[in-house]
Amino acid sequence: MGRVALVTGGTRGIGEAISVALKEAGYGVAANYAGNDAAAQAFTERTGIPTFKFDVSDYEAVRAGIAGIESDLGPVEILVNNAGITRDGVMHRMDFANWNAVLQTNLSSCFNCCRAVIEGMRERGFGRIVNIGSVNGQAGQYGQVNYAAAKSGIHGFTKALAKEGAAKGITVNAIAPGYVDTDMVRAVPEDVLAKIIRTIPVGRLGHAEDIARGVMFLVDDNATFITGSTIDINGGMHMY
Ligand code: NDP
Repeated sequence: MGRVALVTGGTRGIGEAISVALKEAGYGVAANYAGNDAAAQAFTERTGIPTFKFDVSDYEAVRAGIAGIESDLGPVEILVNNAGITRDGVMHRMDFANWNAVLQTNLSSCFNCCRAVIEGMRERGFGRIVNIGSVNGQAGQYGQVNYAAAKSGIHGFTKALAKEGAAKGITVNAIAPGYVDTDMVRAVPEDVLAKIIRTIPVGRLGHAEDIARGVMFLVDDNATFITGSTIDINGGMHMY
């Protein structure tokens, strides 16, 4: 088995495509999820990839979960912080719970997971961290003050940690996906989605595999000189 990779939210959507691509490339993959046991079980049956259930927004749960992965599979050398949620609503109606849930699940999760693996990566002199941001963290989006703040925070987090890890063989990069055909986007009302697709020059939603392709590029052993960057994979929707 190759290096061990942890994909948070690795059982559905973009995370599933990343988990599968890593497995096909020979990595030992651990796919994390939060609570959808049926989806996780079906994922393992389809892919043979083991799943690990813990809430990435919970610091202690992450520490225990990653300790379990490391005792089963070995040290985590590749971390893909992919788990994320939306709780959309305009600012003047958003309650604190929906603000906080999105910040904790999308952004604090990056701290929690990186904190649990970073010392080991530094000791071993190797690490690959990829954080999944969003085009909406770059451009903003109506009804997503919480989500845009969290995703935009990921991009700053990535650059700061990249500077800390650079001398220790640890690269830290982000991917900012545009709209990708997953359960998260299927929850968007059909008329809103049709309008969004009209703003994508490529003329379609992304596939989860489009994002996984970027992750595979970044985690490669030879990708030693690319760190602190964000790769936009959005069908040309946002360029700057
Ligand atoms: P999905 O909703 O399809 O899947 C989310 C995954 O994350 C599931 O495996 C889910 O587990 C897991 N998850 C959610 N909350 C937690 C938690 N607290 N702890 C652990 N796991 C959790 O999402 P997508 O595949 O669409 O999105 C993946 C990432 O890509 C997210 O960060 C999202 O913000 C980002 N993104 C998505 C875009 C899109 O268009 N789809 C666009 C831009 C960014 P469970 O099955 O147990 O619920």
